[in-house]
Amino acid sequence: MTHDPACPMCRAVADLTAADRPDLVWHFPHSVAHLGPWQFYTGYCVLMARDHATELSQLGPARAAFLDEMALLAAAVEACFRPHKLNYELLGNLVPHLHWHLFPRAAADPDRLRPVWFALDRADADPAEKARLTAGTVPVAEARTRLRDWLTANGAPTAP
Ligand SMILES: [Zn+2]
Repeated sequence: MTHDPACPMCRAVADLTAADRPDLVWHFPHSVAHLGPWQFYTGYCVLMARDHATELSQLGPARAAFLDEMALLAAAVEACFRPHKLNYELLGNLVPHLHWHLFPRAAADPDRLRPVWFALDRADADPAEKARLTAGTVPVAEARTRLRDWLTANGAPTAP
């Protein structure tokens, strides 16, 4: 397992592994899933790689398993929250450690034809917009339970 002590996401992975935080969804063998803060996108999850890597090409033989874990989490989000469309984003421009953003999008979202980042950028400068985009239609505890129940029922692998 590779770890970069200077990387904030390596520390976040360690924190999620050490404690059962209320936003923790699942410990996969190669990644850790948690509910992200922007629950206007109901069921929005972040999936962080356990290994410190900045590009998929660096994962080597673990890459297929990492991608399978992402797809399984995506299936859970789809089944639990029935989005109009799920958006998959693997960016890392701000924190260069492999992590997926899974944004469920609603047909009624006025910004549905744009990436969420435009709205999130507005929220950074506007407390009312921030409140709107962090408030979910489903409480975080319930969202977590739904996702965990689906992952358990569908045999999602867990970290050893
Ligand atoms: Zn890292």
